[in-house]
Amino acid sequence: VATFLTPTQKKEERHQWVQLVGHRGTFKKGIHDGYILKELSEHEEYCCEILQTDSLKDFVPKYNGIVKDAEGRLFIEMEDLLASFNDPSIMDCKIGVRTYLEEELDKSECNPEPRTDLYNKMIAIDVAALTEKEHEEKKILKTRYMIWRESLSSSQNLGFRIEAIQKSHGSMSKQFHRIKEREDVKQQLKDFFTNSLSRANQYLERLFELRSTCIRSRFFQSHELIGSSLLFVHDKNKASVWMIDFGKTRFLPDGIHITHEKSWLRNSHEDGYLIGLDNIIALLQEIINE
Ligand code: ATP
Ligand code: MG
Ligand code: MG
Repeated sequence: VATFLTPTQKKEERHQWVQLVGHRGTFKKGIHDGYILKELSEHEEYCCEILQTDSLKDFVPKYNGIVKDAEGRLFIEMEDLLASFNDPSIMDCKIGVRTYLEEELDKSECNPEPRTDLYNKMIAIDVAALTEKEHEEKKILKTRYMIWRESLSSSQNLGFRIEAIQKSHGSMSKQFHRIKEREDVKQQLKDFFTNSLSRANQYLERLFELRSTCIRSRFFQSHELIGSSLLFVHDKNKASVWMIDFGKTRFLPDGIHITHEKSWLRNSHEDGYLIGLDNIIALLQEIINE
């Protein structure tokens, strides 16, 4: 776990910052109180910048510009969403029916060399997923592998998957990549909310607001959001959720319009963001009404 102490609080109240997913070493404490640094990606920087003036601005971390460290590495400085919580429980849900960009598929198609290593990776997990022809060749294309991998988790059918959970004082769990079935995902969510009805209701209200804001957001209408997450954070007193991780969010090509709720077909650029959001909302409602 990459952790550091934020200088935001008085000594006795300092909290441990927690990074659930992503590469280690890409986050640091911010220059300003209540801010963190994330290694710069130009795509993400551009999104953070325009989101500050979009209707979604209250659903994303505040953005404070680019920072250079002593070694000359560039970072974006953004609000630490954990800063106002006490011993928070945190959950990262990756939203969307796919987590790769169409351009990543195009790129791997430029090198259409079927690979034995990917075949081996696939048979290790699901022999039955391979066709007879693939078994004969003992090789598969990278694109085939990328698309198949999405069906292992709930991403393809529910439009989201739980990436990691860290419960207050508890240990971090990342064993969610193979959780696919609706009921299993629901059980994990239930576990995260630790059976608090008022907490689940706070999350639900915030998610409803997020959904209606997405619909009228210019940013949301004009972008494809891939690999972006919802970060759920709660402590004893409050619960809230924010959109994070815009490294694979892209401005839609000219003439392409997406609904965010139709299933993905190659070249459609549909991301399934609202499929995921609606499924989380539906699961939460079921949990509340049980
Ligand atoms: P990946 O692309 O593999 O998902 P990444 O390097 O793009 O990872 P993020 O997904 O943006 O990184 O963030 C990784 C983790 O860091 C999140 O799961 C969350 O725990 C934490 N994190 C990110 N941004 C914030 C923030 N603004 N406030 C608090 N925690 C954050
Ligand atoms: Mg992420
Ligand atoms: Mg990312």
